Amino acid sequence: MPHTPAGPTGSASPIPLFELASQHQALRWEIENAVRQVLESTEYIGGTAVKRFEEHLGRYCQAYAVAVSSGTDAILAALMALRIGPGDKVITTPFTFFATAGGITRVGARPVFVDINPATFLLEAGAVSAAVDSTTRAVLPVHLFGQMCDMRSLAQIASRHSLAIVEDAAQCIGAHDNQGQGIAQLSRAACLSFYPTKNLGAAGDAGALLTRDAALADIFRQIRQHGETSRYHHAFVGGNFRLDAIQCAVLDVKLKHLSIWNQRRRAIAAYYTQRLRGSDVLPPREISGTFHVYHQYVIRAPQRDRLREHLRQKGIGTAIYYPRPLHLQECFSNLGYKQGAFPNAEQVCREALALPMFPELTDAQMERVAEEILAFHGGKKIAASG
Ligand SMILES: *Cc1c(COP(=O)(O)O)cnc(C)c1O
Repeated sequence: MPHTPAGPTGSASPIPLFELASQHQALRWEIENAVRQVLESTEYIGGTAVKRFEEHLGRYCQAYAVAVSSGTDAILAALMALRIGPGDKVITTPFTFFATAGGITRVGARPVFVDINPATFLLEAGAVSAAVDSTTRAVLPVHLFGQMCDMRSLAQIASRHSLAIVEDAAQCIGAHDNQGQGIAQLSRAACLSFYPTKNLGAAGDAGALLTRDAALADIFRQIRQHGETSRYHHAFVGGNFRLDAIQCAVLDVKLKHLSIWNQRRRAIAAYYTQRLRGSDVLPPREISGTFHVYHQYVIRAPQRDRLREHLRQKGIGTAIYYPRPLHLQECFSNLGYKQGAFPNAEQVCREALALPMFPELTDAQMERVAEEILAFHGGKKIAASG
């Protein structure tokens, strides 16, 4: 039976926060062919498909690209390659996905959290600078939700104190900062994730390391293969951080569409922001001159949980990124941070709400999302005055 379109006022079909089926339908023959080629080649680890994807990714990002098993492993491998370990401090944000700080701890270093700007959700150079001490070795900025931190300012601080910058670029492939610089241009390395829901998503776990430094790229290639410098010769201890050829084949198909998908995300975001301006919710701030790729569109709502329930009842999917800041996670209690240490991050954890965002979201769907948010606030005002 054909799908029945929703009437103008009737019970409309649900709008998910994210869905992959439309994208897969559109690319299915290309993807299935690419995967079949790998299967028939029997080159499952390394080989042509991996090299081809790395070459294309490198060209897209203007850096050397080394495909690895996940974004988490990219962060871990980058810190290992830079020999960051016990006794070292790494400055990062408490408002991010767990893997950012997890990698720092796994190499034996200590995460040092610094509060964010609540309007952009990003680390800022001034706060980072104030947290630097004699044992600080690196800064791990996160370009959260698809918007880049001010890399020029961070690079200045890094150079003043001889710190390495490793970018967590898991959410921002294709973005550039307010100086027109993309990821991996002003840092030692940038870490990408191709988790299926990311702007460029594999058919499973996948990630990559980017660097402008050819020698460091060689070390990344060695580290993903147990530190092997030549067959059965191990100069240092690495891991198995390789990415399967099948995933590279899928990603290579999708990479060609990434720029168009990112443009569509930006158009949806521009629409949301324009409709929600002047309402009780706060749209995310896009730093002037940046190219934000809206991995997520995250508003701040004072009555976040009630709004979320209202949207749920209307069939609109939302998510909370992130409900608990990292400095208050049980596994980091040994670091000694207390509630109140980072008021901006803590407040944003109470107010942030991600709205439906994916390139295949239709105009009608994004309009309904905005209308339901405005209706919630209209309803509240009537109730308050009545
Ligand atoms: C997704 C993500 C990661 C981890 O990537 P995986 O591929 O899931 O391991 C790390 N940092 C951030 C900010 C992410 O969003």
